Amino acid sequence: MTDTLTRPGPASLAEAGRALEVGTPLDILRWASDRFGPRLTFATGFGAEGCVLLDLIGRHRLPVDIFTLDTGLLFPETYELWRRLEARYGFTIRSVGPELSIEQQAAAHGPELWAREPDRCCDMRKVTPLTAQLSGFDAWITAIRRDQTDSRATALAVEWDPRFELTKVNPLVRWTKRDVWGHLLEHDVPYNPLHDRGYPSVGCLPCTSSVNPGEPERAGRWRGAPKTECGLHADVEGADEIGHPGSLM
Ligand code: SF4
Repeated sequence: MTDTLTRPGPASLAEAGRALEVGTPLDILRWASDRFGPRLTFATGFGAEGCVLLDLIGRHRLPVDIFTLDTGLLFPETYELWRRLEARYGFTIRSVGPELSIEQQAAAHGPELWAREPDRCCDMRKVTPLTAQLSGFDAWITAIRRDQTDSRATALAVEWDPRFELTKVNPLVRWTKRDVWGHLLEHDVPYNPLHDRGYPSVGCLPCTSSVNPGEPERAGRWRGAPKTECGLHADVEGADEIGHPGSLM
């Protein structure tokens, strides 16, 4: 039987979305935490937006489950940031990994699959684990902002996610990149030092390069390949990231 408390219908979600439209990110996070309790999760990719949300969750001690997709191929700086955030806020960011280790994947599908079939590699190392993980929750927090893409321009603070079939909570939906970096700097929130070294978008090490001045922020992802997204819901891959304080000056 449907649990109307944790599986709200469209009308209920729309009502909550309208009420939260004027709320702060913290208001929205608090509402979601109260509403969904342990059935709420946050999948972070350690981008700038994600660090803002981790700061709010950590400083206000919100009882939110947090995980990250550890492909086994993240930058050392990203692993270090993961540990720094845990130490700073005292929470655990769960590691969700693919079924196959790098070695097992190489044995089964050949070495460096990412260089030959990146879509297949992303599917095995990101999409499949995320889908499995979200199936155990009723709501997830994303880091999307309306000003990121045309498709996000109509995003609401709370809405139904038809792809993963759970409620999607978007606390930063009304924020700009300037708001994000203003928050990080004001609260001295740890962020990925690669952002200061020409990497506005940070993914897996073999598939991420730095970006030259004037290039799009995601130009360093799968450089030289037609691929631009990993196939994840872009809320993890495309939104929980981006930005460099220097770009705001
Ligand atoms: S970003 Fe690259 S290494 Fe990471 S999962 Fe996708 S193809 Fe594989």
